[in-house]
Amino acid sequence: MYDLELNGVGKTYSDGTVAVADFDLRVGKGEFVAFLGPSGCGKSTTLRMIAGFEEITNGDILIKGKNVSSIPPERRPTSMIFQNYALFPHMSVRQNIGFGLDVKHLSRTEKDGKVDRIMDMFGLTPFADRKADKLSGGQRQRIALARGLVVEPDILLLDEPLGALDANLRRVIQNELKLLQRELGITFVFVTHAQSEALGLSDRIVVMNRGRVEQIGTPHEVYANPKTEFVARFIGSNAIIEGQNLSIADGIGAVDTAFGRMRGRPAETVRTGEGVLVAIPAEAMRISRRGAADALPAENRLNGTIAMRHAVGSVQHFQIDLDGRQRVDVETSTDNRDLMQLAVGDAVTVDCPSENVTLVARG
Ligand code: ADP
Repeated sequence: MYDLELNGVGKTYSDGTVAVADFDLRVGKGEFVAFLGPSGCGKSTTLRMIAGFEEITNGDILIKGKNVSSIPPERRPTSMIFQNYALFPHMSVRQNIGFGLDVKHLSRTEKDGKVDRIMDMFGLTPFADRKADKLSGGQRQRIALARGLVVEPDILLLDEPLGALDANLRRVIQNELKLLQRELGITFVFVTHAQSEALGLSDRIVVMNRGRVEQIGTPHEVYANPKTEFVARFIGSNAIIEGQNLSIADGIGAVDTAFGRMRGRPAETVRTGEGVLVAIPAEAMRISRRGAADALPAENRLNGTIAMRHAVGSVQHFQIDLDGRQRVDVETSTDNRDLMQLAVGDAVTVDCPSENVTLVARG
């Protein structure tokens, strides 16, 4: 049995906006699933429908096999963490966390015991009696998590919960969140528009675009095997090259491009005779000084000149101008000494093995 099932779920708002359509998803117990997509693609609407804050207009939502579509939020086994945390500023940390338990008719001792345990777990015990508005962003984030978890939900729903934090704190809390999720074994459904967050945290990612699911897969799958043009453009930094006259043999597709014949793994969405895009991940490309590469066996070879280069930490970013027709990004490690000698204006060749290249349908 799944912890969460969405069967053909859709939402059309009363003004006619189709926010979500035909959403199918099955989530196993203890899975960490991220909804990823640009602003307005329907992530929050879907999360709110799972929580029960938004009525669904099509399909059904099941939690642990039970249809919850018409059950009010407080009776669903879910907790939701909002982007702004929605804490009561003038209540103490203890009162904020205990709030969710008030409807549960527990004895005073039972309630205090649960609140104490969770405050301890989140390192909040020293601030138990402080008002929520007298705490830092990171501490408020922890209170929101503690309040969501103290009711022991089957599913924790998180709506961009790290959005309000600065970059350093976000990294710290990301790690904590991942550890916490592992430790508790609770199913997490997480909404984000930041791909690094989705790729780093989740077991599976649902990539969404304009209210529809584009692809569901592990971070590696959506990163290395995009199924659609949207996913290839949205995830990672792929070079996208137009191709035509697709032919497929032994599982490898070949297309004609402005840069010659290129090969890659065809996504299941591509059809021979239709427009095709070649997607090459920036970090899967090899770069070498023009001429030097000729001795090496190389597939998908492209000639160009270095238009830009800059290093961030241990990653060297190049932008290669392909004969004035197109620019592509290439990322390599800064430990490669030969590459560190390359300068803007140098003539280079990039190439990529066909097993790292994906052919996706255009549009
Ligand atoms: P995301 O969370 O991916 O940014 P949302 O789920 O918030 O996207 O919104 C999806 C679409 O639904 C958007 O076009 C948004 O403008 C629209 N929308 C959201 N809430 C409402 C509402 N209450 N009434 C009408 N349209 C809405």
